[in-house]
Amino acid sequence: MEKITVAQARQETAIGRQVRLQGWVRTRRDSKAGFSFLELNDGSCLANIQVICDAELPNYQAEVKLLTAGCSVTVDGQVQASGGKGQATEIQAARLTLHGLADPQTYPLQKKRHSFEKLREWAHLRPRSNTFGAVARVRNCLCRLIHDFFQQEGFLYVHTPVITASDCEGAGEMFKVTTLDLNNPPRQGGQVDYTGDFFDRPSFLTVSGQLEAEIFACALGKVYTFGPTFRAENSNTSRHLAEFWMVEPEMAFYDLTDNMDLAEAFIKYLCANVVASCPEDMQFFHERIDDTVLDALQTVATRKFERLSYSEAVEILGKSKEDFEYPVAWGHDLQSEHERYLTEKKFQAPVILYDYPREIKPFYMYCNDDGKTVRAMDVLVPKIGEIIGGSQREDRLDVLQQRMAEQDLNPDDYWWYLDLRRYGTVPHSGFGLGLERTVQFVTGMANIRDVIPFPRTPGNVEF
Ligand code: ATP
Ligand code: MN
Repeated sequence: MEKITVAQARQETAIGRQVRLQGWVRTRRDSKAGFSFLELNDGSCLANIQVICDAELPNYQAEVKLLTAGCSVTVDGQVQASGGKGQATEIQAARLTLHGLADPQTYPLQKKRHSFEKLREWAHLRPRSNTFGAVARVRNCLCRLIHDFFQQEGFLYVHTPVITASDCEGAGEMFKVTTLDLNNPPRQGGQVDYTGDFFDRPSFLTVSGQLEAEIFACALGKVYTFGPTFRAENSNTSRHLAEFWMVEPEMAFYDLTDNMDLAEAFIKYLCANVVASCPEDMQFFHERIDDTVLDALQTVATRKFERLSYSEAVEILGKSKEDFEYPVAWGHDLQSEHERYLTEKKFQAPVILYDYPREIKPFYMYCNDDGKTVRAMDVLVPKIGEIIGGSQREDRLDVLQQRMAEQDLNPDDYWWYLDLRRYGTVPHSGFGLGLERTVQFVTGMANIRDVIPFPRTPGNVEF
């Protein structure tokens, strides 16, 4: 008896095979003729397979007739052609083994539709629903495509640390990592004394693997890191998580234009391939979640990204007749309403903005000769706004030191980062793509909490 998946059993080529299927019952329907139909799902695909259970099964009355949504079973039987619509095959059960019942009085996932908010309270059960199963498969597919893209382009995958002593963004929104007794920490001159802490100094969960990725790029050429990052910012938006996954390529001998070219090719690759890789799930998102996603993917995959400087963008925004909540002024960060106006209304295409004011950007971005801007870039897509942030890195030691001084950073904390500019410095660039915002863009899911298995946001850490 060969174990196969529901996805395999749904193929016409499976007809005639004796197989074993294992999964969870979605529904049971009893025929007047004295047998039952089960809809079985095992997560291998969105669709279920129909299982026919005859009354002759020895456990028909005692077990089959008890099956309800959520029960787990093993079914042995023959795959046969089905006359039912929407299915090429079904399975005639020769034997059914019940593993676990799911009391219909208390099992939350009954036939009725639940709101996504409600499902977040059942993060341990929501992967069994159509939507969250589809999200999990598409997310998996995007991760595979991300690795495929960079591996094909000759990038080396490096693992940067989760625990770090440096604050890459300089924004101070970091989670502290400590084994000190918070009720009674050692003190020195009124301050907590970290010399007795696990790492003998303050340490944090990383906000980005960039600085360490630069080390490897400045030795091995083209590298990428892909891992979880943490931000202790108290933003309760549909696009921010406290723990999210970021893909960060870092390339030696790349200037900002090379960086933009790579970012554009990368996003195009993901959008062009995800539909072909997950056709059934993407059709589901198109029909049930957002009927613009397939068009949006097509647009991104084929249209040239609009490129303009931050200053040009500010001018366009200033002249627009839009009623923005936040005013636009040169020198201020763009809000998501501004980003979305540019990509959704003004250009109706993905947009790359570059050359941002130096005051609002971190110390490591390359300073332009105008003395006012740095070689930063953001990639904006419809409905999400910023999906990628990146820059050409400052590779001149003296300029970097001056920028650190401007931002009150202690050069001793970054001695190794400065060494990269001391010894064989090279122009280099990189960017970070938020995985969850990408999954949102691809699936049309409105809230970022619904595209990561276990969302971490202020006050939410259950599961
Ligand atoms: P935003 O301005 O939208 O808060 P950011 O400028 O702080 O983002 P970067 O530091 O440039 O973000 O990070 C690179 C990418 O990581 C972003 O373009 C976005 O896709 C993703 N990202 C950043 N912060 C978060 C977050 N809190 N939750 C989920 N994804 C995020
Ligand atoms: Mn950014």
